[in-house]
Amino acid sequence: MSCASITEMVARNLCTGCGACAGAFPNHIKMVDDPVNGRRPVAAETPQGRRAEKEAVAWCAGGDSDWRDLNRTDAIDRDWGPVLAAWEGWAQDDEIRHRGSSGGAVTALAHFALTSGTANGVAHIAARADDPRLNEAVISRNRAGLLRGAGSRYAQASPAESLGAIAQGNEKVAFVGKPCDVASVHKAMRTDLSLAAKIPLTIAIFCAGAPNLVATDRLLDRLGVPRDARLVDLRYRGAGWPGLMQAEWVDRDGSQHHSTGITYAEGWGRILQSERRWRCRVCADHSGAFADISVGDPWHAPPNGETDAGRSLIIARTPRGRAFVVAAIRAGVLVAEARPRDVIAAAQPNLKATHGAVWGRRMAMRTIGLRAPRDRGQGLLRLWLGLPLKEKLQSVAGTWKRIWRERLWRRVTIRGIAR
Ligand SMILES: Cc1cc2nc3c(=O)[nH]c(=O)nc-3n(C[C@H](O)[C@H](O)[C@H](O)COP(=O)(O)OP(=O)(O)OC[C@H]3O[C@@H](n4cnc5c(N)ncnc54)[C@H](O)[C@@H]3O)c2cc1C
Ligand code: SF4
Ligand code: SF4
Repeated sequence: MSCASITEMVARNLCTGCGACAGAFPNHIKMVDDPVNGRRPVAAETPQGRRAEKEAVAWCAGGDSDWRDLNRTDAIDRDWGPVLAAWEGWAQDDEIRHRGSSGGAVTALAHFALTSGTANGVAHIAARADDPRLNEAVISRNRAGLLRGAGSRYAQASPAESLGAIAQGNEKVAFVGKPCDVASVHKAMRTDLSLAAKIPLTIAIFCAGAPNLVATDRLLDRLGVPRDARLVDLRYRGAGWPGLMQAEWVDRDGSQHHSTGITYAEGWGRILQSERRWRCRVCADHSGAFADISVGDPWHAPPNGETDAGRSLIIARTPRGRAFVVAAIRAGVLVAEARPRDVIAAAQPNLKATHGAVWGRRMAMRTIGLRAPRDRGQGLLRLWLGLPLKEKLQSVAGTWKRIWRERLWRRVTIRGIAR
């Protein structure tokens, strides 16, 4: 459910941190890295800031999204959002494939958007050079720029901040982000048709949740990076599939160090995932239903070791997404084979149940007066009803317990970055 202002969205745990509101009003709303609550918007305490925080709600999908116009025809579409076609594949460019998170398909498609004349730029995120624990929204215009973003960053990021630059410019810009980022971009495009005309393509990466900065700092501790060192690189994925989590730093004497790598299973499973924000636990779209194309890991055919040659699962969500993937395969930039449309369920065996549990979690929130996101027409109740009894009960009772443990009724206030 939407609130009257983006400050209320943040206070009530509905904000995903996509950055669209800051993109809409760059002079009055800024994204701030809060170590615990995530990257969240703060509006200026001025008359213009107060107006902006209300008007920006029109671009925000944190509180609600509308699935009713999505083209869904059968059970696969109803479970996952539109699935027009599916492929498994990788970037033909060896470096992109290697540096990519799974098979580098996103970076290869983004590069094809530039070289085919579909777009003049690609909006995505990349690690900040001055502090690689943090991410920044960038618009790339060439391969080198895109390679800055290759590899998933299991941390807070706000790619939709670039909407401001896109709206103000005269160029066509493709957009890459998480499902929640793309949902806000989709909403903004519905609200502002001149913006929509400048975004020829959207690509979503699958996403099970974005951890906070506290989690990143724990990962750095596990990797043995001293707190007083200057971090120069932090990789969560990539350099093979799924890739190792690794850091590089310069110590006080100026010597450079590389950490040993820890596995994705350890890093995500034992360190990062427990610090996903509450909004991620009530997120009902982990696979990018609002995008033209969405890309994830083909876990149904798992990698051989930690640094296998990568492969991506590629899903066309719209006719223009399907035409674009087909053109990329024909041009030879993407090596991909068609797969049955239901491959998405095999590749992501937990996500359908997760979407079902979200109905129970949201219901539990509402019964005690908390606001919960609403995705009109998605049909989450049907997925919840399909869960075993124990999981149904767990989704409700577990939520009440968590609300109590984490005091989730308290208003979220943003304090800014610690170091
Ligand atoms: C937080 C997070 C959770 C994920 N959870 C899952 C999951 O549950 N299941 C699954 O199959 N896949 C998940 N992924 C996606 C997966 O890791 C790959 O990103 C996906 O398979 C695409 O790989 P690729 O090699 O084709 O992309 P690449 O060529 O490596 O390109 C990745 C693109 O994603 C963008 N990106 C990276 N991190 C972020 C971020 N935090 N926010 C916004 N954009 C970002 C980069 O800018 C780049 O453009 C997750 C990714 C992230 C960041
Ligand atoms: S637009 Fe995005 S960043 Fe802004 S309040 Fe909504 S969800 Fe949060
Ligand atoms: S889980 Fe959902 S809300 Fe959280 S970062 Fe991923 S797409 Fe966004």
